[in-house]
Amino acid sequence: MSVLSIKDLHVAIGDKEILKGINLTINTGETHALMGPNGNGKSTLLGTIMGHPKYKVTQGTITLDGEDVLSMSVDERSRKGLFLGMQYPQEIPGVTNSDFLRSAMNARREKPLSLYQFIKAMDHATEDLEMDGNLAHRYLNEGFSGGEKKRNEILQMKLLEPKFALLDEIDSGLDVDALRIVADNINEMRETKKEDFGLVMVSHYERLYELVKPTHVHVLVDGNIVVEGGFELIEKINNEGYEWVKKELGIEL
Ligand code: ADP
Ligand code: MG
Ligand code: MG
Repeated sequence: MSVLSIKDLHVAIGDKEILKGINLTINTGETHALMGPNGNGKSTLLGTIMGHPKYKVTQGTITLDGEDVLSMSVDERSRKGLFLGMQYPQEIPGVTNSDFLRSAMNARREKPLSLYQFIKAMDHATEDLEMDGNLAHRYLNEGFSGGEKKRNEILQMKLLEPKFALLDEIDSGLDVDALRIVADNINEMRETKKEDFGLVMVSHYERLYELVKPTHVHVLVDGNIVVEGGFELIEKINNEGYEWVKKELGIEL
């Protein structure tokens, strides 16, 4: 079992403080939902865990099994088992999906995969996600539709087998069938890895959470986690929005 531990995390973008003291512990085997109104710091939290340079940590710690994550490069974080499925995946012309994935997979293995092993794994994952077989040879995300980019993030997750996956609005822009495929693949990962896989999902929609049931739910408002609970919290937010949070806690949204 692994533990990702966030303590009193404060993060700024430029001079503006975005996260104001986040405390969050995620164990492998758990699935956490992170909710909250737009612009309150959800993507900032996930991007900071992965080490995006635009986020400056001004206070607090992030550790993975006791090791200091904040002193690691993005590559190192990835090799240690962290994975971010981004809200807006980047297009990277000149780098094919297979170049990118093969080097990322090899970076975390002692013995590199043979070309045959790699192609087999890639074909298998492409099929599972019902993606075009030509995908391997195309440039990373270039010319992909919104839905294809999201599926490609899940394909990367499957092949990289992280200890912790952070999925930022992975359901946005997906039609019903694509959402089902994405959810099935996330669930397959949870079922095969069990206590070796932890998940954090950001989504606004109950639909995803019905398919991939969270064990823990957190609501982030103005840079702080202000409410925590289980699935009942998602139903309440779905029915009532965030007004009640504001009223109960006296917070301006
Ligand atoms: P969420 O994911 O909850 O919608 P974000 O973490 O993306 O929220 O954004 C949190 C806050 O950071 C917002 O107020 C947003 O406007 C601000 N922000 C994000 N990127 C930048 C940037 N490059 N410069 C200044 N402010 C930013
Ligand atoms: Mg947003
Ligand atoms: Mg966001």
